[in-house]
Amino acid sequence: KWDEILEALKNEHDISDVSFRTWLLPLKVYSVSDDIITIMIDDKLIGSDSINFIKRKYGLPLKVAIEEITNLNYELDFILESATSNIEVKNEVSPKKEITKKNPYPFLNPRYTFDTFVVGTNNNLAHAASLAVAESPAEVYNPLFIYGGVGLGKTHLMHSIAHFILEHNPKAKVLYVTSEQFTNELIESIRNRNENSSTAEFREKYRNIDVLLIDDIQFIIGKESTQEEFFHTFNTLHESKKQIIISSDKPPKDIETLEDRLRSRFEWGLTVDIQSPDYETRMAILKKKEELDGLSIDNEVMKYIATNVKSNIRELEGALTKIVALSRLKKREVNVELAEEALKDLISPNNQKNITAELIMEIVSEHFNITVPDLCSTKKSRNIAYPRQMCMYLCRSLTELSLSDIGKKLGNRDHTTVLHGIDKVTKDIQKDSQLQNTVEVLSKKISPQ
Ligand code: ADP
Ligand code: MG
Repeated sequence: KWDEILEALKNEHDISDVSFRTWLLPLKVYSVSDDIITIMIDDKLIGSDSINFIKRKYGLPLKVAIEEITNLNYELDFILESATSNIEVKNEVSPKKEITKKNPYPFLNPRYTFDTFVVGTNNNLAHAASLAVAESPAEVYNPLFIYGGVGLGKTHLMHSIAHFILEHNPKAKVLYVTSEQFTNELIESIRNRNENSSTAEFREKYRNIDVLLIDDIQFIIGKESTQEEFFHTFNTLHESKKQIIISSDKPPKDIETLEDRLRSRFEWGLTVDIQSPDYETRMAILKKKEELDGLSIDNEVMKYIATNVKSNIRELEGALTKIVALSRLKKREVNVELAEEALKDLISPNNQKNITAELIMEIVSEHFNITVPDLCSTKKSRNIAYPRQMCMYLCRSLTELSLSDIGKKLGNRDHTTVLHGIDKVTKDIQKDSQLQNTVEVLSKKISPQ
């Protein structure tokens, strides 16, 4: 009857699919005695920390549901599976397809939700912690600190938390920013200090909220005034019991330029990591992407990608996109041969990431929310021309390419255009500390360390 009990619980309390999958499905009945039911928690799936959360949040509802279905009154006891034996309980659930709704939150990527997030052994703890925080902001882990390498799903998880909170409480004031935005807005408020009370405005914006998500905190480190301001923001929010969620590429203890007082605060809550996905998780992610994009790809091709693209989920997804694009372009069938051809640059034997114009163009276009073809196009609007000049500047400072090579990469422009672009950015940086910050962040994204 266990399934029945869970089902009743879900319906009565209007528990969302993802919460149900995460917290309730991993529960199994371990033993039943006269008046005690012992419930086993699969801590491999959701971490041993979850026991208290589950007890608190679902203990009573579960008890009530059991009573309803069995007409008997049991006490509940919870144990961790790891404390019982080592039998593996495999938990295959295929998430239902989400109906695509219009995105009401322009600062969030509509595709980054818990429903599209594939849970594997590399990220299950980060996922469980994120969901716990989304369900009970400021009640469980505060701050929640998520760290992991590039392209492993930190931003995806943060957006998922924000979506979840807003969906369940549309009035919640949720603010998601990158640490670069935080820094730039702070610079802006200081610059305008004399004109109006813009520092007060800045503080109002960051302190009068319920949830602050700050992505890529590693990019504010090393800037004293920003750390100072962030420290106060953190304290104000934490003291008034507001949820803070932070992501970074490293754990707090390894961020050298982080002030100790911030480091210790980051460690007040829970720190979880995301590792590189294993083969099965890579396959599951590819399948999810196939489903979301409405594709139908030969399984051998999926295996080929999952075998060869290992460390980064963004590249994993990019590989699939590349293959599909090449097949459309050349009107060829998607098979392993085509996959090999499409991915030959990505899977070169010496997978030493050297800095290329292509890499720079990819990172810059992503940063400014435009596309690589935009960069190479003849479009002259400022929102495209400026990132293009930024590419010229970064290619010049980070690669050995000549002016005319750079011009060729960026849509066959001649070397004087390139020189002009580089000059412009060089001059602007000297006058504009926001721009200087952006260029610094971009350079670090392109060549970490
Ligand atoms: P990070 O912020 O850690 O650099 P992102 O969150 O931007 O990484 O993730 C990179 C890409 O990989 C995104 O398109 C994201 O949707 C996808 N991705 C990452 N982790 C998962 C996952 N577990 N399931 C599905 N997609 C994922
Ligand atoms: Mg990110």
